[in-house]
Amino acid sequence: MIPPGETIGILGGGQLGRMIAMAAAQLGYRCHVYAPEADSIAAEVCGEFTNAEWDDAAALARFAADCAVITYEFENVPVAPLAALAATPLLPGANALEVAQDRLSEKTFVTDLGGTPAPFAAVDSREDLAAAIARIGTPGILKTRRDGYDGKGQWRVMTGADAAGLDDAVFARPLVYEGFVTFAAEFSVILCRAANGDVRFWDSAENRHVGGILDRSTVPAGAAVAGEVAAARELARAIADRLGYVGVLTCEFFATANGPVFNEMAPRVHNSGHWTIEGAVTSQFENHVRAICGLPLGDTRLAAKGVVMDNLIGDDVHDWPAILSDPANHLHLYGKAAARPGRKMGHVTRLILE
Ligand code: AMP
Repeated sequence: MIPPGETIGILGGGQLGRMIAMAAAQLGYRCHVYAPEADSIAAEVCGEFTNAEWDDAAALARFAADCAVITYEFENVPVAPLAALAATPLLPGANALEVAQDRLSEKTFVTDLGGTPAPFAAVDSREDLAAAIARIGTPGILKTRRDGYDGKGQWRVMTGADAAGLDDAVFARPLVYEGFVTFAAEFSVILCRAANGDVRFWDSAENRHVGGILDRSTVPAGAAVAGEVAAARELARAIADRLGYVGVLTCEFFATANGPVFNEMAPRVHNSGHWTIEGAVTSQFENHVRAICGLPLGDTRLAAKGVVMDNLIGDDVHDWPAILSDPANHLHLYGKAAARPGRKMGHVTRLILE
């Protein structure tokens, strides 16, 4: 057990790190953020900040020496340099990063555990894409295997002509082609696993995406999702058990006529779990801290009849005065300076009390 008063290291400097640090502070921990960007919104709420590149072994070693445990809020942290963390535990482990950083290994891993992703094929060239389309058909989505997020690094392929029209540059990196899934709804399973194997699930949110970016999470989810949560949880638990996972794990699914189709996993707290700050007895952030520090996990049950969380994307953030004028709204602003299109600036949560 890592007692309150010790320092938690957080790799990554964004809003997820900021909210982990706020939960850690409530439990009496100090946090030390490590991030390559100088203007980290997580570091703003932490006592210590190392501003260094991901492959700076000396900086990573100094950071690790200051921390009792290290976690991450960003799943694309390069894995090889993490050897410099030496004896300081990294939770969840680097194995979860390795699986989740590559869409191909993620889908293969999940298939081996009995899960069902969209039909997929590795693509390294135009010829591979033609072969993938011949097998899987159109419509489909071509995605970069690595470094994609919020719909970035994705190309919709509605017809063979779309594929032919893709720029040569698209094929300069490893890709995966997936068949387009016809779904009734999207939902996420968020769990927290303790080192002793205890697993708690939050209620599954139904997630609405706009332009590949999460727009709204609603709990409880609608009827299309409700019947698929048990099977999706079983897969999420199997993923966590197989990885010996410690902390919060998120798996995103499509609810389809043939049951839950796995979309992707994030080895971290997740945007579709922000509603848990006010809407659950214990938030995803607090339970993540509890798990990595070896404290007992808190109750994950709903604290209201329902919850709706809306993201504030880009210029939405300018609506904050109107949002605050409704006393039922819980406003969270991440402190980002520039409201660029597609940038997550904050979120607003409303509890349904009766
Ligand atoms: P991703 O970054 O892979 O989660 O994709 C972002 C969003 O694009 C998802 O939440 C879906 O709304 C949509 N999407 C991604 N992959 C597929 C697919 N194979 N079929 C249908 N919709 C998809």
